[in-house]
Amino acid sequence: MISANAYGVESQGGSFKPLKIERRDILDDDIMIEILYCGICHSDVHQVRNDWGGSRYPIVPGHEIVGKVTKVGKNADKFKIGDYVGVGCMVDSCGTCQACKDGFEQQCENETVWTYNSVDPHTKGLTFGGYSDRITVNKRFVIKINTHENLAGMAPILCAGVTTYSPLKKFGAGPGKQVAVAGLGGLGHMALKLAKAMGSEVTVFTTSEKKAEDAKKLGAHGTIVYKNKDDIRKSGLSFNIIIDTIPADHDINALISTLKPNGTMVLVGLPERSTRYSLSPSILMDSNRSLTGSNIGGIPETQEVIDFCVKHNIRSEIELIKFQDLDEAYGRIMKNDVRYRFVIDNSSL
Ligand SMILES: [Zn+2]
Ligand SMILES: [Zn+2]
Repeated sequence: MISANAYGVESQGGSFKPLKIERRDILDDDIMIEILYCGICHSDVHQVRNDWGGSRYPIVPGHEIVGKVTKVGKNADKFKIGDYVGVGCMVDSCGTCQACKDGFEQQCENETVWTYNSVDPHTKGLTFGGYSDRITVNKRFVIKINTHENLAGMAPILCAGVTTYSPLKKFGAGPGKQVAVAGLGGLGHMALKLAKAMGSEVTVFTTSEKKAEDAKKLGAHGTIVYKNKDDIRKSGLSFNIIIDTIPADHDINALISTLKPNGTMVLVGLPERSTRYSLSPSILMDSNRSLTGSNIGGIPETQEVIDFCVKHNIRSEIELIKFQDLDEAYGRIMKNDVRYRFVIDNSSL
């Protein structure tokens, strides 16, 4: 084992503080990464606060990791020391089940090992995420980043990016397709940028005039500022795909009613476990509409979205912070006061 420096929380309700943690030294299939930047995902906040249950402490969050290769295991030679790489939500899985073979490691039939708050199958200790100076990861879960430009803005692509890219691709976003994005936050602003780069016209539903202005600047074709469900229904627009990023109770029927026949609405914003949405079946049945959900993306798709973002020069809109600002940043995320993702500069450790 080797020692690493990190920022984490030692118990539920605690503040962030510097911690010494242990990482496994590289195995033959591993690489070691010096972490340069790590995005702060809304799910980091939920897990630090144990909103979903099952959080284990100490917790070192962070699954939007960008860094540089510092050590390469003898079977991991597709990577070289000095390569820029990324790590997203997962660091291991069985690799042999059908889901893993199909590139959906997040659905591994045996066990997906999450980047933090999981058990490392090699050491039996907890996994620790990217709020740290280094990490050891199996080569199958390391994404190549073929650019050195604006790497901080690339970090959120590893979670927020692939989470929205995956359903946009699956449901056919592209030229001639009308896409709506509900909610403009970390996920929503990535959905907007990606759908636009795929060639779709994108409309953003938001409750904020200010965010509607931002959406226009980020390339939205249209915006709908709504106060209630009637404003949504009256908008009179119709979409092939709606990416619903709102992570709290809201009227999904009003949004679904703006889908074209055979259109699909995809839920990607995960609210607290106790949240229930009510659904009017006729809204789906009338026009053969679909309602579905999507959870991150597999490793091949994560590599694909990173390559897509390099090619189209897409990055997340970020606010770069230091480790010492973590508690304040978490407070601002809770108040929905971030435009549009915090990213930690790991050199501040
Ligand atoms: Zn995330
Ligand atoms: Zn598997």
